[in-house]
Amino acid sequence: CGIVGAVSHRNIVPVLVQGLQRLEYRGYDSCGVAVHRLDASGTRSTGLDRARSTARVAELLEQVQIEGLQGFTGIAHTRWATHGEPAVRNAHPHFSYGPGETQPGQPARVALVHNGIIENYEALRRALQAKGYVFVSQTDTEVIAHLVDSLYGGDLFEAFRAAVAQLHGAYALAVMHKDEPGRLVSARAGSPLILGIGEDGEHFVASDAMALAGVTDQIVYLEEGDMVDLQRGRYWLLDRAGQALDAAQRPVRTVH
Ligand code: GLU
Repeated sequence: CGIVGAVSHRNIVPVLVQGLQRLEYRGYDSCGVAVHRLDASGTRSTGLDRARSTARVAELLEQVQIEGLQGFTGIAHTRWATHGEPAVRNAHPHFSYGPGETQPGQPARVALVHNGIIENYEALRRALQAKGYVFVSQTDTEVIAHLVDSLYGGDLFEAFRAAVAQLHGAYALAVMHKDEPGRLVSARAGSPLILGIGEDGEHFVASDAMALAGVTDQIVYLEEGDMVDLQRGRYWLLDRAGQALDAAQRPVRTVH
């Protein structure tokens, strides 16, 4: 239903959750946020962590405050269930712990949010189960997290491109990997997605520019099949054919 993601140099959790609040009017049954969690000193990433809820976004905000969830890079989601009942285990962000790992005590390797429907998720799930991946949700979304993990060889964008090539259906996606704390990758096909250019090199993605109303009015509208690789201070866009896109092809617009 709704997506907000960011790469920044400040704790971005409040911005992500406020972004979800701006998308609440669209309706949802659950919500969640994942970040590269900062340690107590607020400087070092200690791995992927998340908070999820079947209550209102306001309660998710309370949860992240109580748990002290902080991070410079993160993704957030409001879910409108299509596959799997509304429940915390089906709420996004979804994690992959790698093949054979089911315990949340293990470090999560991939975190992902998804809007839309993956039509070939059953075939993908069978193939990933054969490789040892254990599924903990009933969603069509979870396959994408494991697929990215199974294709990862040190470069998140390359793994993501290869994963997206195997998906049939509609999606807007935002994905992080535990080994790349300053990076976020994203793509759209059949679901809306925009890129937001913030201050001081901050970059955002969102399913709707309204989600970023508090932080930036500088927006790049992505087109069908576009993929984006976000880091602080730089972003890189590719079209569905894998061609790099420049500022003339995807101009930055000021929204009012
Ligand atoms: N199909 C996904 C699910 O059911 C995403 C739904 C959405 O767009 O919120 O979890």
